[in-house]
Amino acid sequence: MTTNFDQFGLRPELIQAVTALGYQEPTPIQEGILPLMLSGRDVMGQAQTGTGKTAAFALPILHKLDPNIFLPQALVIVPTRELALQAHDMIKALGQFSEPRVLAIYGGTSYGPQLNELRNGVQVVVGTPGRLLDLLKRQKLQLDEVQTVVLDEADEMLSMGFIEDVESILAATPKNRQTTLFSATLPSRVRQLAEKYLHNPQTISITAPQVTVAAIEQRFYVVNEHDKLAVLTRLFEMETITSALIFARTRVRTADLVNELNMRGFPSEALSGDISQDARERTMARFRAGQVKVLVATDVAARGLDVEGISHVFNYDLPDDTEVFVHRIGRTGRAGRAGVAISLARPSERHNIRDIERFTKQVMTEAQIPTTQDIESKRSDDLMAKIEMHLRRQRVKEERALVDALVAAGVDPLDLAAVALKMARAEEKQRPIEAISPLPVKAEHPERRERTDRFEGHRTSGQASSRGRSSERKAEEFGMVRMELRLGKMNGIRPGEIVGTIASIANIPGSSLGKISIQSRSTMVDVPAQHVKEVLAHNSKYQIRKQSFSLSVAG
Ligand code: AMP
Repeated sequence: MTTNFDQFGLRPELIQAVTALGYQEPTPIQEGILPLMLSGRDVMGQAQTGTGKTAAFALPILHKLDPNIFLPQALVIVPTRELALQAHDMIKALGQFSEPRVLAIYGGTSYGPQLNELRNGVQVVVGTPGRLLDLLKRQKLQLDEVQTVVLDEADEMLSMGFIEDVESILAATPKNRQTTLFSATLPSRVRQLAEKYLHNPQTISITAPQVTVAAIEQRFYVVNEHDKLAVLTRLFEMETITSALIFARTRVRTADLVNELNMRGFPSEALSGDISQDARERTMARFRAGQVKVLVATDVAARGLDVEGISHVFNYDLPDDTEVFVHRIGRTGRAGRAGVAISLARPSERHNIRDIERFTKQVMTEAQIPTTQDIESKRSDDLMAKIEMHLRRQRVKEERALVDALVAAGVDPLDLAAVALKMARAEEKQRPIEAISPLPVKAEHPERRERTDRFEGHRTSGQASSRGRSSERKAEEFGMVRMELRLGKMNGIRPGEIVGTIASIANIPGSSLGKISIQSRSTMVDVPAQHVKEVLAHNSKYQIRKQSFSLSVAG
């Protein structure tokens, strides 16, 4: 298959990956950036998430990589751990046929695995400023061979106060490197940064937001009605929420939900149609200023709501109308930021989810409700990240004096540290993790049912359940056959990788594959009937991240 990516003269393995990922033509930012970066120039790109900017810088990086040098040749600096992981995954996906050694480096996690990989040789590093600098200072990260540096989301890095760290990192890279900078906005501080570190840069601006529903991560959770609040609270613990809009069905429900959330330590306000215009404006002003992070609204109250860059939209209740759904979630991902839309569906509402998927032509991933253990480990990770940040900042003079006094008085320093951590965690006690009841057997998740079948040696009784099961395992579209593979979320696989791998190995067009549903330990993929034979014929060769798998017809 040929693609319009041929024009750039990229290595064949990269064209192969682009094809496998189903990209048919370059996005505008890619058309602008690729030739410039390939020619070695410094570039400043004004582009938001959702425009394809990651591939725009990743492809030239991969193209120029010397496979025989096992030291970082490219360094991508990003503001957050999420972005580091996203960029890492994108580079791996584009490098699936050239197998570059790519490492994501970020704080809040143990050093061991990152150090191990560095020791084994890494060619592309994607990292957040704090941990990068930390490893540099410890002389674990060598940046002498870096040819290309990318400063991604420069405006965010500046507003998060990372500028000094970034400058120290840049100082450790060769002077004659290529430097590119991406930023959604170009305020004077970003321009000054570019002036200081970029050499005669060319600027490419993609200002019109080109984000569609496709850039919104859509997830749903199947939840008993009476567990919705407990599930929402768990999700609030796990998600990185900068601003959220929650939709509930009625005014009374919005008011109740606001009360409950406030009581649980998540400040929120209701936006209801029956408050005065003035009060409404004040609420909105607080929301825009970031003083209130969570608004709970009905569809009527949210009409005409003009806010940008909401990180999360929650459908606490599904709307009756699919068009309303699109309208609701369209509010996230605005201003080019990728957003997350999370829907809570009652067991009987699975079919509404399918209707929405058909309407938006977008798959919604069924996600597993975070367990108590997930939440506890997230709380510990957050605590560790905070500790790490304070250790790095070292602005603890007064506290240090207290510690010295206590230790001088004979207190064991380890006991003291443990007590201090206990006190730091005291507020967690205010947020007990509420229990969630199991779903009714009839509507249970097909996977969970399968497990019960296998372990208990009998099939869950009742016609309705076996009918439910077989319909989950059949392709919905005419001419498609549902196939199954035994890797799932637990193996960290993503839809793009599945499409890429099957398409390239079975040599069928990636775009011909249909719905993909990733469950915890398995995945269903809809394959056109005419390609099933080819897909089966290559069963010994499929591999994602060194994990082999084969496909079988689900049934
Ligand atoms: P980004 O702006 O880098 O966050 O990319 C947004 C999404 O667009 C990612 O899911 C990419 O896989 C996808 N993407 C990037 N380039 C293309 C392309 N040329 N055609 C289709 N999708 C693309």
